Formats: sequence, C-alpha cells, structure tokens
Amino acid sequence: MTSTLPNSLPSVPGLSSTAPATAPLPVSVRIRQRLEAAGVPFLANDNIAELLHEGELDQLEMEVAGKVRELLQSLVIDIDNDHNTEETAERVARMYLHEVFKGRYHQQPKIASFPNVKKLDEIYTVGPISVRSACSHHLVPILGNCWIGIKPGSRVIGLSKFARVADWVFSRPHIQEEAVMILADEIERLCEPQGLAILVKAQHYCMKWRGVKEPQTSMVNSVVRGDFRHDPSLKAEFFELVKQQESLLGT
Ligand SMILES: [Zn+2]
Repeated sequence: MTSTLPNSLPSVPGLSSTAPATAPLPVSVRIRQRLEAAGVPFLANDNIAELLHEGELDQLEMEVAGKVRELLQSLVIDIDNDHNTEETAERVARMYLHEVFKGRYHQQPKIASFPNVKKLDEIYTVGPISVRSACSHHLVPILGNCWIGIKPGSRVIGLSKFARVADWVFSRPHIQEEAVMILADEIERLCEPQGLAILVKAQHYCMKWRGVKEPQTSMVNSVVRGDFRHDPSLKAEFFELVKQQESLLGT
C-alpha cells in the first residue's frame, strides 16, 4: 500500500514499506459496518438479507462455526476427543444461519399477490400455522400455533403463503409480542387487507426447560388491525372461528 503514497509525504521513522498488510476484517464486521453505514437496523428479529453480498453467508457460516467451537471449548467440552461433539460447531452454525434463524439471513420467499377482482370481503381465518421460533433472551425454542384472520382488501394471496411468510418471520430470535407485530406488518404489505387479526399461542422453553420450569404455561397474544379493530363483532367472529379450528384438532 505504501508504494501508492505520493513521494512528497514525509517518511515515518520505523514504518517499513514492506510492513505486512493488515488482516482482513471478519465478515461479520464487514456486514455490520455496511448495515451501520446504510442506517439499517440489525436487531435479533430484523432481516438483513438485503445487504448481504454474494458468498458472504458461506463465510459467515465458517466464522460462526469457529465461534461455536470456542464456546464449546469455554464450556470445557473435549471437542477434539468427543465423537459426539466433533462437528457440533459446524452443525450449529448451519442450523442458525439456514434453519432456525433463516428469517434474518434469507430473503422472504417469493409470494405472488393478485388483485381482488371478485371484490371478496367476507372474513376468513387460516390456522393453525406452526410457530417455530426462539426467545431473544436465551435462544431456546418458542413453539406453538398461530391463526391469521383476513378481511380481504385490494389484493389476495394463496392460503399456503400465510404459512410461508409466518415461517420466515418466526425463524428469528424473538419476543412473542414483537413477532406478532412483524408478521402483521408483512401480511399487510403483501395483501393490503381491510382487516387483519393474528393470534399466537406458544410455549416458551425458557419457562419449561429452565427458570421457573413450568411445563404447561403458554403465552397467548393477538394483534387486530383495520376493521377487526374497529368492529367488535368482527373481532368476536375471528376468535369464534379460531375456536372452531382448534376443535378440529381434536386436542
Ligand atoms: Zn427466554
């Protein structure tokens, strides 16, 4: 690098022109700098796929595997001799980036929406849709179901698409209250409904597996927007439909 400096610059004593180039920054740091420069948030439940460059996910997988290896070593697990944990670091890195937290690193699945040509305006609900997430506080599973109620607006999407977008949104570290809001924002963006209601019932393994160790406790929360918010009878109808769908489960 020093060879490109103009000759007029004063020479710095002790600085050799053959000084080794500085080590490249870890890929996570490069991505973070790019996100900060663009003013894009990267909280645990944000998606950052838009600003990832080609090949960086593979590099990130290697970096994360290295850190998980260090974590296992810090937990005093003999990964060099334990055949069970030999490749755990690589597995965990793949699992985080491409499975359980894929909603942070991968683009939203392609979801086509169509104009509501028939002017449908009767409400319907879709569910149960599996909720598979992890709590931001402990990174342990949040598992449950969600129901989505729609009063159609200007656009419609296929029923299975609700499950796809929910899977993408929930596959991030979350707290349940925010997950429901983010899912509502995405569905509103996709089909601009006149009304939207979402109900989530989930069990939090940070309460079942650790902490207070309450195996049966679940958390239920909902968001209602548009006509579901303004019309109490519509809101009641949504919860009634969910109840009927739950009874179909036979549990
Ligand atoms: Zn937790």
